[in-house]
Amino acid sequence: MTLTTSNARLHDRAEELMPGGVSSPVRAFRAVGGEPPFIVAGHGARVRDADGHEYIDLICSWGPLIAGHAHPAVVAAITAQAARGTSYGLPTPGEVELAALIIAALPSIEMVRFVSSGTEAAMSALRLARAATGRDAVLKFAGGYHGHADALLARAGSGVATLGLPDSAGVPASTAANTLTVAFNDLAAVERVADAVPLAAIIVEPYAGNMGCVQPRAGFLEGLRRVADRTGALLIFDEVITGFRVGPAGAQGRAGVGPDITCLGKVIGGGLPVGAYGGSRALMRLVAPLGPMYQAGTLSGNPLAMAAGIATLRLLDDAAYARLEDIGARLEHGLVVAAHRAGTAVRVQRVGSLLTLFFADREVWDEDDAKTSDRERFAVFHRAMLRRGVLLPPSQFECLFLSLAHDDDTVDQVIAAAVASLEEIR
Ligand SMILES: *Cc1c(COP(=O)(O)O)cnc(C)c1O
Repeated sequence: MTLTTSNARLHDRAEELMPGGVSSPVRAFRAVGGEPPFIVAGHGARVRDADGHEYIDLICSWGPLIAGHAHPAVVAAITAQAARGTSYGLPTPGEVELAALIIAALPSIEMVRFVSSGTEAAMSALRLARAATGRDAVLKFAGGYHGHADALLARAGSGVATLGLPDSAGVPASTAANTLTVAFNDLAAVERVADAVPLAAIIVEPYAGNMGCVQPRAGFLEGLRRVADRTGALLIFDEVITGFRVGPAGAQGRAGVGPDITCLGKVIGGGLPVGAYGGSRALMRLVAPLGPMYQAGTLSGNPLAMAAGIATLRLLDDAAYARLEDIGARLEHGLVVAAHRAGTAVRVQRVGSLLTLFFADREVWDEDDAKTSDRERFAVFHRAMLRRGVLLPPSQFECLFLSLAHDDDTVDQVIAAAVASLEEIR
């Protein structure tokens, strides 16, 4: 079998060889029907599949590709590093440089540890919070996704919600018992839980991205900070999506609220596998080898990932963030107008270059609101957009991602496809 055999043949073979034919569940298109395209190449804002179809890509690898596919600076950085070797299992200059960029950008981080995925970052952040507080219980929010570590799979948002699984099989009840869940934006519930149970941590996506794009209500993040301080819990911001995407200092910079521990991933690896967690010097001193909290990784701080991350972050100046904001606003406006013209009830929610079009007739402030969306209609819309050459994330509960490679013209093509698709499915 060659690399460029057809989508259909690849799909059949993949389903024989891998569960669902995929390496991560949401890629299987179960929520929208049909079969996923097998991607053979990506350039800028576009990808091409094994049948030779081109799409405007609004998945962007689920967030990392803020510079678009195969950005020349990123490719050059990876290539140069690869020629010098791909992994040494010893410290490298790239780690020092990327750590310095992260620490300079995020005032709440004084030291950082690199890992290989967002899952690892969140899992390790919890371990750190437990090590620091000597407590076991953690509070998360329904619809918040923090990777697939056992302790964080309760009410875990998009992928899980899409498959209709309340939780994952295989998570010990004893582990799940230490994970408490309340609705996003429900500060009174947070107060209640934090008063009743000694919490090691409150972990939150400050701008939620895994129940679709959902913003914190005014005062919610400040309230979490207050509750954490009052009860001795640590506040963890999972900025795996929002870090270096919604602004130079992430969601914490945009919202003006600082966490104790930050989880990063996605953008900081520029499309290579990466994650990181960081916080104050005092907290990070608990991490081995300085302290008693063990955490390690063969490929952690991988030189290729560091090179791609550094090259990506160097592209993100003020002009780049202004640009991401502009195209985000352009797309938001175009989609709202398109839906209005088609007479379709939608709710478009956006933070910078993250955006979700909910087929819902009310504002979405939490997972229950998100679940009022008409998922059947989203599925039909998704297929209609795909036929018009626009690749949307295959779930109502995901954000679509824009990149610096999505110019006005590309965004206008997406809007035109949405006008026609919404008209067609009305
Ligand atoms: C993607 C994501 C993760 C998990 O990152 P992986 O690299 O997929 O393990 C964690 N938290 C949030 C908010 C994410 O969006």
